[in-house]
Amino acid sequence: MNTNPRVRYAPSPTGQPHIGNIRTALFNWLFAKRYGGTFIIRIEDTDQTRMVPGATENILESLEWLGINWDEGPSIEGPYKPYFQSKRLNLYQKAAYKLLNEGKAYYCYCNSEELTRAREVHAKHHSDIGYRDNCYNIGEDAIKRFEDQNRIPAIRFKSPTGTIIVLNDIVRGKVSWKSDILDDFVILKSDGFPTYHLASVLDDTAMEISHVFRAEEWLPSTPKHLALYSSLELDPPIFGHLPMILGPDRSKLSKRHGATSVLDYKEMGFIPQALVNFIVLLGWSLDDKTEIFDSRQLSEVFSMDRVVKSGAIFNREKLDWMNGYYIRQMSVEQLTDSIISYWTDFPPEQISMPIDHSFLSQIVPLVQERLKTLAEVEDKISFFVCDTLDYTSHELAIENITEQEPTYVLQQTLTIIDQISLFSRDSLENKLRSLAENLNLSPRKYFGMLRIAITARSVSPPLFETMEVLGRGICKDRILSCIAWIETFN
Ligand code: GLU
Repeated sequence: MNTNPRVRYAPSPTGQPHIGNIRTALFNWLFAKRYGGTFIIRIEDTDQTRMVPGATENILESLEWLGINWDEGPSIEGPYKPYFQSKRLNLYQKAAYKLLNEGKAYYCYCNSEELTRAREVHAKHHSDIGYRDNCYNIGEDAIKRFEDQNRIPAIRFKSPTGTIIVLNDIVRGKVSWKSDILDDFVILKSDGFPTYHLASVLDDTAMEISHVFRAEEWLPSTPKHLALYSSLELDPPIFGHLPMILGPDRSKLSKRHGATSVLDYKEMGFIPQALVNFIVLLGWSLDDKTEIFDSRQLSEVFSMDRVVKSGAIFNREKLDWMNGYYIRQMSVEQLTDSIISYWTDFPPEQISMPIDHSFLSQIVPLVQERLKTLAEVEDKISFFVCDTLDYTSHELAIENITEQEPTYVLQQTLTIIDQISLFSRDSLENKLRSLAENLNLSPRKYFGMLRIAITARSVSPPLFETMEVLGRGICKDRILSCIAWIETFN
């Protein structure tokens, strides 16, 4: 690449940013990084009827969370400002009127009922020719009549006929369309706002965008854009259409597959670096074996020639695995900080905040290996910080110690705990194993019961480490509470 590319992510704030949107942003961002280019964010807010309040903020928050930073765009005013299309209406209106004056566009006075009817008639007679509105040949009289009715016209583009429109797509190769299939589409609506097609072409030109990488769903719009470039005598950028993202059943990824807003993944406890790593593999790979990349490595190896044409499958198990992998790679300090910041955003229900940082960092190594998400931490460790434990539902496990009275066994345990000089994992294991032996109890049964006394769970992090972190006082209190509870049903 000899000049520095300028690429953009151009979301419409009409909904929550999902994985597909963010994949587009990520690929553009990585491409800019790889080739020393500029990554621009442009908010395409021209469809006033479909705007969703808060959507722009959510899109920007998602990008910030994932570390996808932009060089120009909202809140970073660059030389091509403004970066909100609703603030650039002048540009679009001027171009629409220019096309009109040159005979390359026409006024359309139809209202929505008339349009629906005309389109139905068109569809009946022509399946392979685009829609041309009746206003194309409108006479002076009709214009006068509509104006007397105070109708405000839209402007339609006269799509070319009888030619072939060719695209050399960086991902898909050569794609061509007969120009006759194109509708005479609206470029400027009667409210003075442009449609996506006109605004996108004009802004990509004005912002000197060199490459447009966007999802495959926009491919059918591309011949319209190429026709506009040609009519406006502008040079089109290089296009690359990114493959669809599919669910495991190979249908387009949707809510049904659990595809939700990227911010939902944050709430579900995913690590941003893991999500970035996962998303980059949706349609791109370096080779057939490397799966783990950090953002810095990615920006050194990412390239569009390794983006595939065929759909990319979204595999949720793989995301869980990858997140677990990233969690295991963290230092205790990093993981502790991540958990605390996660709980600051999404306060836990069973743990009162703020939690002591150094206490949490002693617990973290006991659960780190088995974590898949940060959301799992609360449940896994809540017993460490609870004042009272709820033993109900463990009656059977306790009564299972048939060889000895459970309360007697726990009393003996208390004695040992009192006697141990260093309350450490190793000496606890040593002394308590001997106790089980002396009492003729199988270690499985004895430690099963002790685990319940200490944690009120049948499954927990490693018992001796847990006891060491809890400390002698709390362990004794818990055993005493357990004895008191056993006495209530014996
Ligand atoms: N505003 C369009 C969207 O929401 C952008 C399509 C494009 O990149 O040209 O995805």
